[in-house]
Amino acid sequence: MDKIKKNIHKWVWVLLVVYCVVGIFYPSIGVAALICMLAPSIAAIFKGRIWCGNFCPRGSFNDTILSKISKRKNVPEFLKTTWFKLVFLTVLMGAFAFQIVLVWGSVIEVSLVFVRMVIITTVLTIILGIIYNHRTWCMICPMGTMAHYVTKLQLVKSKFRYITFNKGTCVDCKICSKNCPIGIDVLSHKNIGKVTHADCLKCNACVEKCPKKSLYIS
Ligand code: SF4
Ligand code: SF4
Repeated sequence: MDKIKKNIHKWVWVLLVVYCVVGIFYPSIGVAALICMLAPSIAAIFKGRIWCGNFCPRGSFNDTILSKISKRKNVPEFLKTTWFKLVFLTVLMGAFAFQIVLVWGSVIEVSLVFVRMVIITTVLTIILGIIYNHRTWCMICPMGTMAHYVTKLQLVKSKFRYITFNKGTCVDCKICSKNCPIGIDVLSHKNIGKVTHADCLKCNACVEKCPKKSLYIS
């Protein structure tokens, strides 16, 4: 199962590229973006931001392509703040809804709004990803922000799995924290034994980088 998930994550970015290119010429495919808009929050009911870390075409693009050209610098603190994420969500979704209302009634025009939004946000993703960290977009993505709050609700607790510490072998080297693409201070969760942060993408980067194999999903 993990192998299948890894392969999906490695290649699903192709869908984003196909969507952007084909969408320009055949905008009727535009509404397909609804899948990626709803999936993060639906998945978050059961597993937190697992969609963002494993199945999102843009997340896959960020990890597979953008990470190779990213300067991997620290992300400005204001981008991580709750107020900025909520303002960004409101502005972006407000602009999106406004454009939909303007062209309501024409399937092609509505689809074109989706295509335009995906292309614009992809360009923004690439700019932020090159200047800062490859997953910078994922820190402010409106769908990710909504998934964050759905995760916090903990509606189906029994299904939740967390990055978990083996405290006995951890040597406090902080490599996990340094390698978390979304900027979570993984080590700061050692005392409670698991990473309960609602932004955890379940991407496994910390697990794979830990030199002592002190992290696992449970
Ligand atoms: S990378 Fe592993 S050993 Fe190092 S601080 Fe993190 S959990 Fe501990
Ligand atoms: S805490 Fe680990 S699994 Fe969660 S987002 Fe960071 S690196 Fe990925």
